[in-house]
Amino acid sequence: MTDRQRDEKLFSGGRIFDGVNAPVDGHALLMRDGRIARVAPASEFAGYAGLREDISGKTLLPGIIDSHVHLFLAGQIPFGFHMMLNEKDDCGGICSMRLMNGRFSRNYIDLDQADRTLAMLENAQANLRGGITSVRDMCGRDFYEMKVRDAIDAGQHLGPSIVCAGKGITITGGHGWWSGLEADGADGMRRAVRENIKAGSDFIKFVVTGGILTMGTDPLRTAFTQEEIEAGIGEARRLGKKAAVHAQGNDGIARAIRAGATSIEHGFELRDETIEEMIKLGVFLVPTLAIPDAFRESGKGFSPAMRDKGLKFAEMHVDSVRRYYTAGGKLAMGTDTGFPYIYHGNNARELFLMCEAGVAPLDALRAGTSSAAELCGFANRGRLAEGYWADMLIVNGDPSADITRVSDRAHHHAVYKNGFDVHSRLGTEPARPWPTPFSR
Ligand SMILES: [Zn+2]
Repeated sequence: MTDRQRDEKLFSGGRIFDGVNAPVDGHALLMRDGRIARVAPASEFAGYAGLREDISGKTLLPGIIDSHVHLFLAGQIPFGFHMMLNEKDDCGGICSMRLMNGRFSRNYIDLDQADRTLAMLENAQANLRGGITSVRDMCGRDFYEMKVRDAIDAGQHLGPSIVCAGKGITITGGHGWWSGLEADGADGMRRAVRENIKAGSDFIKFVVTGGILTMGTDPLRTAFTQEEIEAGIGEARRLGKKAAVHAQGNDGIARAIRAGATSIEHGFELRDETIEEMIKLGVFLVPTLAIPDAFRESGKGFSPAMRDKGLKFAEMHVDSVRRYYTAGGKLAMGTDTGFPYIYHGNNARELFLMCEAGVAPLDALRAGTSSAAELCGFANRGRLAEGYWADMLIVNGDPSADITRVSDRAHHHAVYKNGFDVHSRLGTEPARPWPTPFSR
């Protein structure tokens, strides 16, 4: 993309939300060389003779940042998971390339390396079309997502900025073992952290409790020993990496934050004293409310065992997020996109779910822009401020009054990435359609 000219353009006439402060009217934003050159009262640009876009009736805001995606998964109904879930219903061995809606779906479990890498690029671009201009990949497959990250950073492909965990570190047989790195003992933890860093991880993911998608693991049970948690997170922090911790039960969450976790992912079971401690330590909660939503909205696609497991935690999960927010905790929007029924490009729905759980629209928007940028470590992204990259979303109406203006992509008017008009370059439709009729 570096060989193509980015237009200098002045956006004026609409409302501007900078990612932090309350939206303002009467201001204009000048974009130049892929960056935000100036944001100021529109009167300052009275003599501007260059390209202009009138955004009257619209809101200009930073592109949304999703702090929890899996580029190697694509939200398919979990045929492909049966084998690794040890479930009885057999897919006949064709699940990873099953014909759905007249096309072969890619379920990513058994794809070859080349196909997998291409699919991850497609998924990354699907995010971008949906207004998601940066993502944090929370565990990929064999480190191939890092090639996608690097190709986008190098300007070879237009896509969202990506930071990568590499392989999530889990106990032997623990949640996500099928794509993660199994580690046991303090030395094993330190070695797993170093292996990820060697491969190019931007931060380290630890799977401290069980999870829904790995049958036989209990989301509320702490998987690692105290010694392992401290050794792993301690090593990540010693080597300058943030620690993102998959933790669902209260005990695992409490142990992880005391050991230095930067963020808690999911956080199904948050007791009040843990909430208090997280806030004191400045820990981010990444809500992933798309998960209970997927179980409620699309229960039939899951096997009965998995649906029961998912629904069991739905209410507890939403309630924990609500209490964390109400107590004043820091939220960064994250979805677990790639999880069954959570589709790349539909990520912004999470903002609606956050509001449904009681988060004020403006706080949800902050969680999906400036706060997510802070957690993920995207310098110069997530805000509309001078010198920042022009990662922007323009929507019809005012999302601080009606969150669906952002969460429902039908209201999206335009997406910009580093100043490139995304829809004019990539089109608005994903390279392959979402695999089921379940879409919103
Ligand atoms: Zn995840």
